[in-house]
Amino acid sequence: MTDLSPTAGLRLHHRLLLICGFWLLIVSASLAWNIHQAKQNRDNLARETANAFFEQLLLTRRWNAMHGGVYVPVTDDTLPNPYLVDELREIRVSEDLMLTKVNPAFMTRQLSEMAMERSSVQFHITSLNPIRRANAPYPWEEQALKQFEAGAKEFGEIARDGERLIYRYMAPLITEQACLKCHADQGYQVGEVRGGVSVTLPTLAPLPIAGLVGSHLAIAVSGLLLILGLGWLLRSAYDELRRQAVVDALTSIPNRRYFIEQLIRELHRGAREQMPLSLIIFDIDYFKPFNDHYGHLAGDRCLRTVADTLKAGLHRATDFCARYGGEEFVVVLPNTGPEGAAKIAEELRRSISSLDLEHAVAPFGKVTISAGVATNTLGALDHESLIDRADRALYQAKARGRNRVEAEVASERAPSNQGLRAPAAAHRAEGKLRATPV
Ligand code: GH3
Ligand code: MG
Ligand code: MG
Repeated sequence: MTDLSPTAGLRLHHRLLLICGFWLLIVSASLAWNIHQAKQNRDNLARETANAFFEQLLLTRRWNAMHGGVYVPVTDDTLPNPYLVDELREIRVSEDLMLTKVNPAFMTRQLSEMAMERSSVQFHITSLNPIRRANAPYPWEEQALKQFEAGAKEFGEIARDGERLIYRYMAPLITEQACLKCHADQGYQVGEVRGGVSVTLPTLAPLPIAGLVGSHLAIAVSGLLLILGLGWLLRSAYDELRRQAVVDALTSIPNRRYFIEQLIRELHRGAREQMPLSLIIFDIDYFKPFNDHYGHLAGDRCLRTVADTLKAGLHRATDFCARYGGEEFVVVLPNTGPEGAAKIAEELRRSISSLDLEHAVAPFGKVTISAGVATNTLGALDHESLIDRADRALYQAKARGRNRVEAEVASERAPSNQGLRAPAAAHRAEGKLRATPV
């Protein structure tokens, strides 16, 4: 069932805040995940690119090794390789043309130097046991080579080079039959790690952090606006439901439900602050004959007029009236003692009487009301006991001729088992009631 208690609105507010918090958590998690994914994608792309360069280089080296090295003209840039031990290292073809053999290592070095000059992707052929000293590994390459010897297939990491981020990649060179032609002296076996080629990518694309943060911020704000908007609609619907649940449809004043809620609340406040609280129950006199004589629609109009008059007769913000049921109304007067309550009850009775609403079948010839007043002086009564006492006082007003106010002061502590509202007649029979005509 819909919860229409006064605190339900507050709970709705708390739940909305909770949903907003949960939403922000989801968006933050999505942002973290997307940044992680973007980083992974960038790293994967860099690794795949570097690996493609490595494979290309490997292919070129294989082609070279497959031919047992290739001859190229000797120039200032390509002098015979002093590390190559080969009887046919140089071949003079003519007076103007001398050829020298270029093996895979020499070729790789030349390619690497060309790449270095163009400051693009760089290669470095290296080994833990290099024939040529300049091929000794850098520290990070040495670390990678050791990992290859332990079984690793490749190595890749992001590193900083001044302002820019670079990607360093390395994969092992495995000894093949063709390699032994030059490297057999070093004691390598086919299948052994002979060294490696490192590939360094010059710049890495920056992560799209600003874009991701911006888009997630937009999603977070849109979601929050949506949640708050829906929350506002829900709150409006709740307020309307609450209004309908606590307002009497005929008279537009609070109904019995609101009255009980507020009475309990005010009684608690009164007990805390040690203040008295008074309750008046009004009942229209001879209302059944009024209905019978003038019809129910006239009866409804009469009820509305009485409700409006009672409402207009209350001046303190904390006082309120409600329709208790049928032709009965209640007025709650916080911080009001018995004298004050009796005075207000009498004023209200008079204000109805002085409306001079015709009631041809009543002895007074006009619409009148009777009132019963009860006061919780010591803050000891619960709401049902207080209503019961006001009800009994009302009965006395009826019994003593109607169109009058009777009051009952409850000064004794209420017994703890005062739960159900006993019929006034039962209390009358016990002779406990002390009703005071006003
Ligand atoms: P008493 O002076 O002892 O209070 O007599 P009474 O006739 O006023 O009391 P009774 O309880 O016999 O009748 C109450 C009447 O109030 C009966 C019912 O028809 C009428 N009534 C209750 N609710 C409504 C309502 O919403 N509209 C109208 N028109 N009449 C109502
Ligand atoms: Mg009645
Ligand atoms: Mg009545």
